[in-house]
Amino acid sequence: MGLVSGLRVIDECLSKGLVAGAFNTTNLETTMGIVRAVEATRVPTFVQVAPTNITLSGFEYIHDMVSRRLKDVDVPVALHLDHGRTLDDVKDSLAAGFTSVMLDGAEHPFDKNVALTQQARALTPTEYALEAELGSIGGKEDEIGPEFAATTDPNEVPAFVQAVGCDMLAVSVGNVHGYAPNARVDFDLLGKVKEASSVPLVIHGGSGLPVEQFGRFHEFNVVKVNIASDLRNAMIRSFGEAYVANPNEHSLIRVSTQAVAAIADVVERRIRHFNPRLGA
Ligand SMILES: [Zn+2]
Repeated sequence: MGLVSGLRVIDECLSKGLVAGAFNTTNLETTMGIVRAVEATRVPTFVQVAPTNITLSGFEYIHDMVSRRLKDVDVPVALHLDHGRTLDDVKDSLAAGFTSVMLDGAEHPFDKNVALTQQARALTPTEYALEAELGSIGGKEDEIGPEFAATTDPNEVPAFVQAVGCDMLAVSVGNVHGYAPNARVDFDLLGKVKEASSVPLVIHGGSGLPVEQFGRFHEFNVVKVNIASDLRNAMIRSFGEAYVANPNEHSLIRVSTQAVAAIADVVERRIRHFNPRLGA
């Protein structure tokens, strides 16, 4: 099947009552682990990368690697730009073949966020998905944190969504990037945002949220939940454990293969957390 548009992942999830995981890749092992879990669960999924994580490779490398792995996978998977900060991020990822993009203008005042996201919409073919963010999600991702964190104001949602023409909206409702100890989604606020939004919602910072919250997201029109730290930690831990077990270990392929299994395990558990009816 190969890559599909982010819109197709959204539509299939909404029509089947599923919540898509959005898993950040950086390298071959992470990509292999994610796709193995997608094949096992058959839930439509986003594979994504942020501009901060292409410094080793580039959008083209990531696109070629992900699309090659997906060629014979018959589950819809989109390749998504996570936290595009500039219009060049959007342009460059689309030029490389990405099928879904995020423009994160949430650190800017409302009007500038609207203007920037509108420009991203103009660059993004309507058959591809655009994610926007309103309310700034706190915590650090890749050592970069926002200047401030602010929850999403439900009163601002209708005008924002209408003005920018996004297909999904990232919200700040108690979720925090990374492993924040006390992060939890405020379901009262999420409910108000849901009522105000004509498009489905996205929750960032999934790695740090209590597992028992995931099973309720589908009630709130959440279509995408981002997971990055869990996968990175699984890979680093896997290599660290191999070294500690044997400081003379030199079979890179064995250790890399173990890392793929560790990542696949984390991704599959997360997909099942988001979709409890699939079973454990
Ligand atoms: Zn994020």
